[in-house]
Amino acid sequence: MTFSTPLKSSALSLLALTLIGCSNESSSNRSGEVDLGTRNEVVTKSANPEVQKLTDIALNGHYGYEITRSLTTEVGARLAGSEQEALARGWAVQKFRELGFENVVTEEFEINGWIRGVETAQLVEPSVQNLYITALGGSVATPQNGIEANVVHFATFEDLKTAPAGGLDGKIVYISGGMEKARDGAGYGPANQRRRQGATEAGRRGAAAVIVRSVGTDSHRFPHTGQMGYEPDVKKIPIGAISNPDADQLDRIFASGKDVVINLHLGTKDLGPLTSGNVMAEIIGSEKPDEIILIGAHLDSWDLGTGAVDDGAGVGIVMGAAKVLKDSGLKPKRTIRVVLFGSEEIGLKGGFAYVEQHKDTDLSHHILATESDFGAGRIYGLQTGKTDANKAAVRAMAPEFEFLGIELLEAEGGGGPDIIPLAAEGVPTIRLNQDGYDYFDLHHTPDDTFDKIDPDAMAQNVAAYAALIWLASESPSNFKDE
Ligand code: ZN
Ligand code: ZN
Repeated sequence: MTFSTPLKSSALSLLALTLIGCSNESSSNRSGEVDLGTRNEVVTKSANPEVQKLTDIALNGHYGYEITRSLTTEVGARLAGSEQEALARGWAVQKFRELGFENVVTEEFEINGWIRGVETAQLVEPSVQNLYITALGGSVATPQNGIEANVVHFATFEDLKTAPAGGLDGKIVYISGGMEKARDGAGYGPANQRRRQGATEAGRRGAAAVIVRSVGTDSHRFPHTGQMGYEPDVKKIPIGAISNPDADQLDRIFASGKDVVINLHLGTKDLGPLTSGNVMAEIIGSEKPDEIILIGAHLDSWDLGTGAVDDGAGVGIVMGAAKVLKDSGLKPKRTIRVVLFGSEEIGLKGGFAYVEQHKDTDLSHHILATESDFGAGRIYGLQTGKTDANKAAVRAMAPEFEFLGIELLEAEGGGGPDIIPLAAEGVPTIRLNQDGYDYFDLHHTPDDTFDKIDPDAMAQNVAAYAALIWLASESPSNFKDE
């Protein structure tokens, strides 16, 4: 019997990429230039000679892949406010300098720090079984001896939200519910309600602790962490996420009608004020240096994996794309600013700090902003911003992306999480939409590691971002209605 492997969706013009082996070597030579590796030649066609040049460089090198490998290997996990995140800022400054960028700057800001400690959950009744759990970011700890209590099951977050006030005194609340797997990640928002608001809604009704089904689409026994929140008027109770197979197990037990008792230990700690920061660097524009095209990613990650798909990949993609533009010899009219945001995971702290630190100086000079923060899957869409001028300008550049398998989407989306505070100040946004069908299999788990990244998909991302910053820097539009 023979099996054939179905081809993943990708542009026909890029099929050749999957057949090409690649070397993982990179090194610094004596002049300090960084060797981003070479690949066997890949042929693609663009009608635009500059875009062709950028694409040839991007698709024949390992620009993004090597940068991501460097960050995730040399630094590893980069929890917001941690020494590891500070190391990552140092890494970023060094890397920007090695790659020859100008105006390399770190802008620090303060955040509230948090770390996890011991985390265990054991089913005690109806039979003794261990569950794989992780604390959600920001959760308070259980008492030192843990909490052992009867568990009340809510099949969905909505069921908990509409439950009567009170009635859960001293109980552990368990919230199940699924998550839709989708290319554009549409399932994340609805599923994430239980993670973000589960503790508030259960605490409001007297519960002692909360366990949620992981916000993820895999069937491995890795729980998915992520930031949770408390509302100020509600007693703070601990909250953790169990892996999807453990949630399936609990669902089956509840379906049998038996009483469930769980013993829960979550040893988290609030660390108080800590330093985080954004790191940025530029290619200064040749004709309009005061006009800024911002491409960003976030430097921090959760602590369980090494933050490769979230968001080491984005760091590699945007730094790599700007380096491709530098190496091409093309001189963008506008300034290209690469911003690596800190503390995105705990509430877009870097994005808000950036607005705060730039609002009185150059914020009004930002022509366009976007962020890569959805893994390392291939880009399939070029998404406009909201205004008529933005849509017209993006429509005009859209044909330049078709040969990369990227189509125009007029979905009026945002530019990425850290760009939300900028967009709120009127900065126009754009987005290159990545295939995130598998993203939430890995997201915020110990399994988010570098081996999951496909170098060919990374190279396509780098090519698209290089084309984007070039075309945006040359566009006659300022992407604004005025
Ligand atoms: Zn992210
Ligand atoms: Zn994340």
